[in-house]
Amino acid sequence: RASVGPKYLSGLNPEQREAVETLDGPVLVLAGAGTGKTRVLTTRIAHILSQGRARPAEILSVTFTNKAAREMKHRLGQMLGHAVEGMPWLGTFHSIGGRILRAHAELAQLKSNFTVLDTDDQVRLLKQLLQADNIDDKRWPARMLAGLIDGWKNRGLTPSQVPAGEAAIFANGKGGKLYASYQERLKILNAADFGDLLLEDIRIFREHPDILRQYQQRFKFILVDEYQDTNVAQYLWLRLLSQAPSSSSSLPGLTRPSINSSQDGSPGLDASRRPGDDEQDHATPVAAGEKPHVKNICCVGDDDQSIYGWRGAEVDNILRFDHDFPGAKVIRLERNYRSTGHILAAASHLIAHNEGRLGKTLRTEDQDGEKVTVTGSWDSEEEARGIGEEIEQIQRKGEKLNEVAILVRASYQMREFEDRFVTLGLPYRVIGGPRFYERAEIRDALAYLRVINSPADDLAFERIVNVPKRGLGDATVQMLHDHARKRRIPLFEAARAVIETDELKPKARGSLRDVVTQFDRWRAQREVTAHTDLAQIVLDESGYTEMWQKDRSADAAGRLENLKELVRSMEEFENLQGFLEHISLVMDRDSGADEDAVSLMTLHSAKGLEFDNVFLPGWEEGLFPSQRTLDEQGRAGLEEERRLGHVGLTRARRRAMIYFATNRRIHGTWSTTIPSRFLDELPAANVEITESKGGSAWGGTGGYGASRFDDMEAFGSTYSTPGWQRAQANRNRGGGRNGGGGSGGFEEEAATFSSSSPGPDFGSF
Ligand code: ATP
Ligand code: MG
Repeated sequence: RASVGPKYLSGLNPEQREAVETLDGPVLVLAGAGTGKTRVLTTRIAHILSQGRARPAEILSVTFTNKAAREMKHRLGQMLGHAVEGMPWLGTFHSIGGRILRAHAELAQLKSNFTVLDTDDQVRLLKQLLQADNIDDKRWPARMLAGLIDGWKNRGLTPSQVPAGEAAIFANGKGGKLYASYQERLKILNAADFGDLLLEDIRIFREHPDILRQYQQRFKFILVDEYQDTNVAQYLWLRLLSQAPSSSSSLPGLTRPSINSSQDGSPGLDASRRPGDDEQDHATPVAAGEKPHVKNICCVGDDDQSIYGWRGAEVDNILRFDHDFPGAKVIRLERNYRSTGHILAAASHLIAHNEGRLGKTLRTEDQDGEKVTVTGSWDSEEEARGIGEEIEQIQRKGEKLNEVAILVRASYQMREFEDRFVTLGLPYRVIGGPRFYERAEIRDALAYLRVINSPADDLAFERIVNVPKRGLGDATVQMLHDHARKRRIPLFEAARAVIETDELKPKARGSLRDVVTQFDRWRAQREVTAHTDLAQIVLDESGYTEMWQKDRSADAAGRLENLKELVRSMEEFENLQGFLEHISLVMDRDSGADEDAVSLMTLHSAKGLEFDNVFLPGWEEGLFPSQRTLDEQGRAGLEEERRLGHVGLTRARRRAMIYFATNRRIHGTWSTTIPSRFLDELPAANVEITESKGGSAWGGTGGYGASRFDDMEAFGSTYSTPGWQRAQANRNRGGGRNGGGGSGGFEEEAATFSSSSPGPDFGSF
């Protein structure tokens, strides 16, 4: 094997180099943002290959997204000077897990061509099971069950392992039984859900030690990026694969005790060794007293960037690494190569407000650069306008749009930016989720409006004729199609004709008649009602809003929020026709992957990425941090939000620009908002307060919202110290004022990536 020489090693600092060159035994790189963790992993693969320690097919490397995997492969090619052939085990947990499951599908009662269900399929299937069991789906929504099952799968629990107390939460104790029948149904359908892609692997590994051994022998090196966000199932899967192949034919079942003690606020590598741990070590598949033999595993991560706790990630996994992998070498990297001094200082200062953290030093040898800016706007529209202008300026300076990102806390925030970009003709892409107008609930709502606007819009009619459920199933739709084809009329007219005949059963005929009558009424109303009001009426009268209100799943609230945002977005158009025309323009835009474009994404999807210019809009109480975490007891949620802020700031190489608006529509109504507490936590020396470029801003808006204006006056133009203390005091008095109470509308994470989807860009494998 040709030795590539140390060219790829030359730029590394000594600690990075140590992490790359320590090939034997477990290695943990625990280090802050931008210190080169991902680069270390990539270089390590290059090193393994060029040293001839393993062939590409013998290296298992886990990335957080498919995109990251592609990037790693690309970089590897650059380092080695030639494309790397055959790296079949480079991908996300789920893509690799799915690959292994396909190879042994028969052991999971599946065929190797099994289908992977998405959340919608999953929910539909669960609904059938609920019906079969006569369980009231209104009281016990299928989506809630889907969420529970996902949670159990994330924790590596099979139906028989679900604690009785938890199974009892659903349908008077039927939760566990339903989970079991769901699994059975999946097999009959030759299907797996995302959770199965790992859970079934784990079961196969446990039940067939010979197969496990085969993989243990194959993978000479294991590498894992973003280790702080692994959940229990991922941990168990890794743990099994990372044992050195043993000749013993039976492996004790690997179970993992509950590890909720991370809340004890005293994490640290040493703190993770808790008294009594050794006796009940949860993952030691060897005889007592014998050290498990662990092979060459290298995990990298940052406890300050753990942001998937809500999806079952266990930051404990990283805190107890040296316990799980005895003899682990822990390497810390302290030099940040990504951001300028001011940005790094701001990010470090913010995260220092968290109590539950290891704490680490981050330094940069880069210049201070520009200060982090904080800009207040009158409302979210002005915020979008201001950011749009700022981006145009960046463009005029000749910088690439690829180097510009907008990172939002809640997916519904994207809508205003998307509209603005369409108006400005700025190319953009949405990463990690559908664009606003492509979300299922938005498409449904638009379909209603399209049918009102154009009765001949068959696609739209078909989309919503049975949404919400009205007993107008496939057979009815088929019949309408036949009718329409024969008489060359639109589906809607076919429906009108069919209800006058007795071709449909009375019940279906009644439902269809209601639909036709409703649309006729809405069309008449259109003449006398504002289009925004009409949209609200349609959503309410059709039962569509109610459908989501009754839905108790994690993402239902986010969907309702998106619907409100849709109605609000219509205000900017004169009438329904104008609005729908705009939509077709937005929908038509196809931004190719290699086009130079602004990136729009949630903070959650931004992990691991970097951009020269990062915009961080919406830093307001109730939005960021989210209302849900404000309502919550304890500080765990708030600390996760702060880590999210830290992730956001540390994405920026040269410029980080924070925004907040004084007025924002949340839960459908305008509220005056309070600047985020995170703004108070930024160091004055590294922050500059600027004025919005978006127009009206602070000056002449007169009486509207005057009381808020008083508070905001501190913001004038010349302040060099953060002046939001008064607002802070106000907040302490007023509590979270934005909230409609409860957790309403704040499950954007779930709305962005459906509750069971494993990662921001889970793709094909
Ligand atoms: P995150 O925690 O955000 O995932 P990270 O620790 O994985 O960050 P990388 O993305 O690997 O950091 O590196 C951050 C940036 O610094 C990249 O642009 C990388 O190329 C650069 N970098 C890392 N190490 C060095 C080095 N030794 N010399 C020059 N640039 C480096
Ligand atoms: Mg990284």
